[in-house]
This record gives sequence, structure tokens and C-alpha cells, in this order.
Amino acid sequence: MSTPAVELVGLTKSFGSVTAVDGLDLRIEDGEFFSMLGPSGSGKTTVLRMIAGFELPSAGRVLLAGEDVTGRPPFARDVNTVFQDYALFPHMDVLANVEYGLRVKRVPASQRRDRAMAALESVQLGQLARRRPTQLSGGQRQRVALARALVNRPRVLLLDEPLGALDLKLRRAMQLELKDLQREVGITFVFVTHDQEEALTMSDRIAVFSEGRIEQVASPAELYESPGTAFVAGFVGTSNLLSGDAAAAVLGRTGTFSIRPEKIHLDSDVESGNTTARGTVADVVYLGSVNHYLVDLDAGPTLTVLKQNLRDSTEQAMGRRGQQVTVGWADEHVIELSG
Ligand code: ATP
Repeated sequence: MSTPAVELVGLTKSFGSVTAVDGLDLRIEDGEFFSMLGPSGSGKTTVLRMIAGFELPSAGRVLLAGEDVTGRPPFARDVNTVFQDYALFPHMDVLANVEYGLRVKRVPASQRRDRAMAALESVQLGQLARRRPTQLSGGQRQRVALARALVNRPRVLLLDEPLGALDLKLRRAMQLELKDLQREVGITFVFVTHDQEEALTMSDRIAVFSEGRIEQVASPAELYESPGTAFVAGFVGTSNLLSGDAAAAVLGRTGTFSIRPEKIHLDSDVESGNTTARGTVADVVYLGSVNHYLVDLDAGPTLTVLKQNLRDSTEQAMGRRGQQVTVGWADEHVIELSG
């Protein structure tokens, strides 16, 4: 195997009695779009800051392109960071903001302008080079921050919730742009987010964090189709988790299991060969293109069932509350989990 762009070995960080990062081992391959996904406080930012060199680990090592950089200051590492608040200089215009990184790296003045303009062009901002950051929209400021980080052509770009301040529509558009840009420049991206949809949209692979540890590292499809733990099944997508008495009553099995809402069929959609159960519709949540049916099974637990809205079915949906229904699923869609 080739040398990974980033390798973390037994990486640990304690703040007083809080263990923010707990003995992490991780390899991020060269050229990957890699996301760290997890709830607030799970340690993602602390890991990113240790890769950047802003934070020293309590134990363990950080390797970049095979080299141990654990004790090195940020400027002596071949990485750059894009922060959520962009950290642009308000008194400099856009071009000067982007050139700044080159000045710090002592790139000769004759090359700075061309390289800064090229970086601005790559994020489609060439025509706004003379504006001040305050004269830009949130999305444009985000692009300046990206151009400034990319202009040094770092081996690894670290991004800490860089789209967090944008509204949903712009955020979706920027997700696709960012993914395209990463493919174009071929730099390894390490992206921190708590938004599972964002991570699924952009990443080659995702590490799911919980309480300072990694629960699972996998591709988006693998994480969704084969979550390894109950935490991952619950955090990535919506899941019906069955364990203990509920698993015994519905599945006749011991252990912890997940069934995705879209894998469960309702009434006339139930297929031959499905495992079936009877229940009552407790509620119907109208979500536009789909409905979520909450079905109280006669055997005890409540299942969420997702059904596409193929035509305007709000009335039809409301009419079903309190009705007796049959649900069914193929056994291959019952995922066994650990923990
Ligand atoms: P978020 O999505 O909210 O940014 P996160 O997953 O990035 O969360 P971290 O910011 O890495 O989580 O924090 C992990 C834990 O370490 C939290 O319990 C946090 O309170 C604690 N922590 C982080 N930085 C410090 C610090 N400088 N001093 C003390 N505790 C800290």
C-alpha cells in the first residue's frame, strides 16, 4: 500500500479530566475526500487541530506523508486549514487576502499575484479580486477562504465545518462545488462535520466519531447499508433499532438489529417471502416527497416506515391514522449490529 497522506497512531488528547480524543488509529489515503462525522463534543475538531499542529497530543503520533510531525509547529507542516468563520482580514481586499499565505511562505513577489489570481479563478471569484470581504456574500467569503488555503498547494487541506454558516440551499450547492474542486486539485481533504447528509454527499470515506473514539470508518454506501454499531445506524440515516425483548418479539432473535424505514413495506406493497407483522398506524408525518408512517406493532415496538408520495396523498395519509396494517420486510434487510 502507498504511504497515507495522514496517519494517526494512538492519538490521545486530555483537557484536565476530559478525554477529548481517546487512542485514535487512522489512515487517510493520498487524494481522498475524508470526513470526520459525529455529534457535538465527540472530538472531531480536536483531532483536526492536532493534525494542523494547533494542539499537541497528550499521547500518540501524527504522521504526514510518512513523516512524524507530532512536535512540529503548524507552519512547518504541509497542511492548511479552512475555519468556519473564514478568518479573512477585513482591511485587505480579496486578492491580498489570498496572497497573504504566499507572503508568509516567502514566495517571491513576482509569482504571488499570478498564483493568487489562479486560485481565485479556480473558485470562480476572479472578477471580485478587488472587493473587501465585507462586500461579499457568505458563500463568496467561503470561496475566498478556500482560495487562500489552496494557494499554497498544501498536501492536505483541513476543513472545520466550513459550510456551517451558510443557508441550506447555498450549503447544498457548495457541497457539490467543493467535491468537484477537490477532484480537480487532487489534494487530500479532511472535512469535519456533524451533518450526516453533508458527509454522505461529499466523502470517499467517513469516520464516525462518538465520545473521542471512532465507531466505524467506511464509504458512504457501506456506512448506510452496513452500519457496524447501533450508534452508527442511529446517527447515519434513520433506523429502526430492535434489541432485547423487542428483537425477540418481532424477529424471534437475540441481539441488536436495524431495519431502514425504506426497506419496510406497507400493506399492498408487502412482497411474497417477506417477514410480516401486524400493527396500527399511530401517526403519519408528511415530508413532501415521502411520508413517514409510525406503526405500533401488536408485538410491542413502534416502527418507522417510509413510503414515497407518488401523487398528492396527504388526505389519503391522514385517513390512515388508527388503521390496522401489515408491514413486511426481506430478511436480508435486517442488519445485525454490535453494541
Ligand atoms: P463540535 O462539533 O461541537 O465542534 P467536536 O466533535 O469537534 O464538537 P471537540 O471540539 O473536539 O468536539 O471537543 C471534544 C471535547 O473536548 C468536548 O468535551 C470539549 O468540551 C472538550 N474540549 C475541547 N477543547 C477544549 C479545551 N481547549 N479545553 C477544555 N476542553 C476542551
